[in-house]
Amino acid sequence: MLNNLKLVLSQNRKILSIFFVVVFLPSIFLAFFGMRALRNEKFKIQQQTLEEHKGYVSSVQKDIQDFVETQSTDLMGLANSEIFSDAGYSEIRESIVGVQQRDSFFGEVVIWNKKGELWLPVYQVFPLTSKTILEPDEWKTIQPNLNEAERAEFQQKDFSNAISQYRQVLSRSNNDKVRAWILSRIARCEVKQAGNKQALVVYRSLIDSFPDLLTESGRSLEFVSRLEMLNILYTSDNFEALFKESLETYVRLEKKVWSLDISQVKLYADTLKEMINNVVAKELEDVYPEGFLAAVIDFQNKVEKKLHIGRLAEFAVQDVLPYGEDILDRIQGANFPILKNVLMFEGEEVFLISVPLNGPNQGFRMDFLGTIFGANDLTINADTLLSENTPSGISVLMRSNQTGRIVFGEEDAESKKPIFTDLFLDNFPPWRVELYKNEAMGSGFVLYENIFFWMILTLLVILLFGSSLIIRLLAQEMNLLQLKSEFIASVSHEFKTPLTSMGAILEHLQDGKIKNPDKIREYYRILRHDSDRLKRLVLNVLDFTKIEEGKRKYRPISIDIGRLVRQEVESFEKEHKLSGFNVKLQMENNSFPVYADEEALNQAFHNILDNAAKFSQREKKIEVFVERKGEMVEITVVDKGIGIPENEQKKIFEKFYRGKKASSISPTGTGLGLTLVKHIMAAHEGEVVVSSRPGEGSRVSLIFPIREGGE
Ligand code: ADP
Repeated sequence: MLNNLKLVLSQNRKILSIFFVVVFLPSIFLAFFGMRALRNEKFKIQQQTLEEHKGYVSSVQKDIQDFVETQSTDLMGLANSEIFSDAGYSEIRESIVGVQQRDSFFGEVVIWNKKGELWLPVYQVFPLTSKTILEPDEWKTIQPNLNEAERAEFQQKDFSNAISQYRQVLSRSNNDKVRAWILSRIARCEVKQAGNKQALVVYRSLIDSFPDLLTESGRSLEFVSRLEMLNILYTSDNFEALFKESLETYVRLEKKVWSLDISQVKLYADTLKEMINNVVAKELEDVYPEGFLAAVIDFQNKVEKKLHIGRLAEFAVQDVLPYGEDILDRIQGANFPILKNVLMFEGEEVFLISVPLNGPNQGFRMDFLGTIFGANDLTINADTLLSENTPSGISVLMRSNQTGRIVFGEEDAESKKPIFTDLFLDNFPPWRVELYKNEAMGSGFVLYENIFFWMILTLLVILLFGSSLIIRLLAQEMNLLQLKSEFIASVSHEFKTPLTSMGAILEHLQDGKIKNPDKIREYYRILRHDSDRLKRLVLNVLDFTKIEEGKRKYRPISIDIGRLVRQEVESFEKEHKLSGFNVKLQMENNSFPVYADEEALNQAFHNILDNAAKFSQREKKIEVFVERKGEMVEITVVDKGIGIPENEQKKIFEKFYRGKKASSISPTGTGLGLTLVKHIMAAHEGEVVVSSRPGEGSRVSLIFPIREGGE
């Protein structure tokens, strides 16, 4: 086997080298470069995708940083404006509210000093200094008259006297503050003497005339008056008016019209709430104005929001204070640094951007100006986050660096790793943007859309195809080699048997010892039979060689097939007389004239008859039929021999092929018989047809046209 392989390989060295050089090497070479190109392509696409992701993340960052930048610039603009050097609180407040109205995202503005005392547009939290509640000069000059009236009010409890004394002082003064304070005292006395109606009138005039003034103790005159009015309405069961007035008070409390500190707003809001709750408890539903309770809740929420901002501002300021003083000491009029702080307040991330303010304002030192905004404001302002700009197949998440809390986006249930992460410049906001790959998204690289993939695939197919061809060729060659060596062995055997027998007989005859004429005749018959056998064998081999070389010539003549078959059957019977073969010949007609090569037909018929005899073991019965079928003649040999397995029925016509069982029961044979028969039939435009069942026997027919007279 191994030797055969070596032999086949060396015999086919040329074709193998051609295959190796022309197909194998170039395929491997190209496939190698194709793979490299494929890898490069993949890498390139991955790089492109990464660039796209980076671009997206930096545009998200830019949106957010731009927003922070705008806040800072607006804040600087405010800080540098004139109002902080010479304007009053209300002007400053209006200016800030103006900025907030222009930019609805501009945060809550807060101003504070080094001590942490703070002021927002929505509150006035600065402690009132002596200057804010400064008594007018006139207040001192009227002190004796006031003392007189106070005596009547507090000691004598003569309220109408007190009122008339207050009114006298009032009529002499033109100063607003003095008039407002005295009117408050008059209203107080009216309440004390149960002159509710008059008291209401006075409070109303105070509210209308002096909304911006403070009381003697520094509280909002308007608001104190309003609360007093509400109290009067409540105690006098004037609920209808009470509802109307309380809504109005809410409106004023919620608007940024007063500079109240948080504790005042809270106190007033609580008082209002309690009063309304008390009235509601009385279940006087029919007197509520339409939508009253809903409006109350709405206002309460707004006020609560305002309180929240106040608390937040206080908290934020405390956070920045430790740095503040240090910064003020350092800058000494130099350029403003911008401070950026992040705080966690009531579970929320809050940002404070602030700048130091220079110079006193009307006697107050206002050291810092800041703006407060939430994480939500930042993400809302990042258009790229909310738009469809997100690269396909990607989801974006914003996470706080400090707490890991998710600021934007939703975390996937399976905690995947981000494919790209980036921080903000200067770590502000202290977040990181994380990009995640969605389920559906691939690497962006589609293998079968790539030309190199198809190139490699084609090369592989070529290589496989070529290799399989080569392997088939080698296998065939090896098979042929095997068959040839078997052929040589069996041909040698075929030659040896008759030659040995002929040699022995000739020896006997030569010695002249055999005298019996019958015996001599028998010897001659055997000699004849053996020489016929040898002749046929040689003929088969020679014919085969000629066929292989394409040199086999056929010479058709008019012959009688009936005669040919009969003679062959007779000589077969003679030959096999001793073996006990029973041959039955059936012919429709005695004569079958055909136009054919006699020798070739004789050879073909002999071969199939010889096979029938060779492969019959127990039942030695052979039938021969010669029939005319239309324009064809059919010579059929039927035996009851070993039969031919289904899988061998095609192969038996191949050169040198011998059936498995056949070779075991008849070791002699060349495997050329049927190859020749097939060729002879083909040359006569006919065919050889085999039908067989293993173990039951075979039926082999030669079918070819009659062609009488060679037409
Ligand atoms: P050979 O007879 O020398 O083996 P052939 O070419 O005549 O070669 O036949 C090829 C094979 O076909 C045989 O080896 C045998 O297996 C099968 N064969 C042919 N004729 C018959 C038959 N009548 N019965 C069984 N097997 C047959």
